[in-house]
Amino acid sequence: AREGVDVRHVHKMKARTANLQDSLETSQRQIEKLKTNLASAEAQGLSDPLTGLKNRRGFDVVLASQIAAARNGGQPLSLIIADIDHFKAINDRYGHPAGDEVLKWFAKILSSNVKGRDTVARHGGEEFAIVMPATPLENAAKVASQIKAQLEAQFWQKPGAPNTMLRVTASFGVAQLSEGEGTTAIVARADARLYQAKQAGRNRVAA
Ligand code: GH3
Ligand code: MG
Ligand code: MG
Repeated sequence: AREGVDVRHVHKMKARTANLQDSLETSQRQIEKLKTNLASAEAQGLSDPLTGLKNRRGFDVVLASQIAAARNGGQPLSLIIADIDHFKAINDRYGHPAGDEVLKWFAKILSSNVKGRDTVARHGGEEFAIVMPATPLENAAKVASQIKAQLEAQFWQKPGAPNTMLRVTASFGVAQLSEGEGTTAIVARADARLYQAKQAGRNRVAA
């Protein structure tokens, strides 16, 4: 009789353990799901819905971490800031939705001209930034010139309006990270060069 009780007890324990195991797996799955949701929510907060690029916040996060990595690794890091020329006139002439199309198109051109380790971001309205780890100033300036040349060699066409052939140019400011600089300082130097490029007549690279 005693043996019978023990066997029943063991069965019960086994069943309970199996239940616990099940609910543990369920919780684990719930945790994984929450983590995924959180990651995508965070990613959404850091990305620009129009272009799909990183937004200003995303840019700040990436630039800060890439600067830290560049310092640790003793590697150069460069930053390009690109601003579409006379963009307001594009909006005024073709409408805000067409302006949005130009922004998406411009974002694609930037992305197609950089390597996987580089980060393209929408820094502000019609201003974009490219963070380039392991890249000295001359190479970043070359990339900017290449983008400038690509823009010069094509037209933007308004969707559904094949006769709209618009030349879109941009100005570029390029800076390489200096010793002891943080995000604010390198952005300020790239910005100052962008301003020079605008002052010098637009559609040019200042590095
Ligand atoms: P510059 O050559 O000096 O850069 O002149 P600009 O006209 O490009 O620069 P400005 O700063 O005068 O105008 C930028 C315009 O960009 C004004 C603003 O309405 C427009 N803009 C900003 N964000 C968006 C957007 O998301 N969509 C559209 N369509 N326009 C935008
Ligand atoms: Mg502009
Ligand atoms: Mg601007």
